[in-house]
Amino acid sequence: MKVRAIGLMSGGLDSMLAVKVLMDQGVAMTGITFRTPFFGPGNAQKAARQLGIPLRVEDIGGVHLEMLKNPVYGYGSQMNPCIDCHALMLGTAGQIMDAEKFDFLCTGEVLGQRPMSQRRDALMAVDKLSGYRGYILRPLSAKLLPKTIPEQRGKVDREQLMDIHGRSRKRQMALAAHYGIEDYPSPGGGCILTKVGFAERLRDLLATEADVKLKDVELLKWGRHLRLPGGRRLVVGRVHADNVKLQDLAQEEDLLIKVKDIPGPVGFLRAEASAEEVELAAEVVAAYSDATDDTDTVVVCSGKVDREITVTTRPKEEFRSLLIQ
Ligand code: SF4
Repeated sequence: MKVRAIGLMSGGLDSMLAVKVLMDQGVAMTGITFRTPFFGPGNAQKAARQLGIPLRVEDIGGVHLEMLKNPVYGYGSQMNPCIDCHALMLGTAGQIMDAEKFDFLCTGEVLGQRPMSQRRDALMAVDKLSGYRGYILRPLSAKLLPKTIPEQRGKVDREQLMDIHGRSRKRQMALAAHYGIEDYPSPGGGCILTKVGFAERLRDLLATEADVKLKDVELLKWGRHLRLPGGRRLVVGRVHADNVKLQDLAQEEDLLIKVKDIPGPVGFLRAEASAEEVELAAEVVAAYSDATDDTDTVVVCSGKVDREITVTTRPKEEFRSLLIQ
């Protein structure tokens, strides 16, 4: 019977090479990739098309967010819980393996390539936390790692696997040339959780707001964020794309705030803001608009009930202390 495996696909070169090395042995590969607010399937879809393999896209946003609030192995340099994140992906892929009778899982991880998440002990921690220890094959570094179950059972020939180690990309480049793989993204530093600015916002969100949901995290990607006295978050668009997205993300109970008849940003307040909070938010939105300072400005607040309020436009510098970052 044909050996079948699921390959985790980030879309980067290493995950493509891992799949190729196994395809060379006749393993029938299916790719899997994941969607959360922090990363999506775009690169993996492109890579799977190049490799000519089917790809499954699994939405793990909800369970990933719950993990992110309290990861067993903590965070990397920013808010990236890479060990737990990998374990979650492999655990999810493992459940599909069990349900659909695949033989094993594979990843493109290379021993020692990333300082934290690809150390030997980190790889072993991922295996344990995922619940699929023994079933996770890393073809690019397999000869340097303990024999996996598919190797023990003769489903994969260990001799044809690789022993790549460390940060140099030379051997991967040679392998890419061997397979004729030319189109792949340059190695990135990780998902948006590794980015300083976004990580600061997320840290603040998790520390200050209870019961954080996916919609709250999605909001972090857009506009400038201010904290009003009392703790409520106000988001104000910086550019047109922010304004469009904030309007998209607004639910019936949320409030969108915009200066009337004058170009300016969209402001976004979550449900049940007090009258004082709405008035302050209107002042902030007016301050960031093209309205002239010290003039009366009419601001439209659209929510369950639309209303207009008039505020005196103040210089935006007066609100700088409210900025979250
Ligand atoms: S960089 Fe982001 S996507 Fe990659 S393992 Fe870390 S947390 Fe997960």
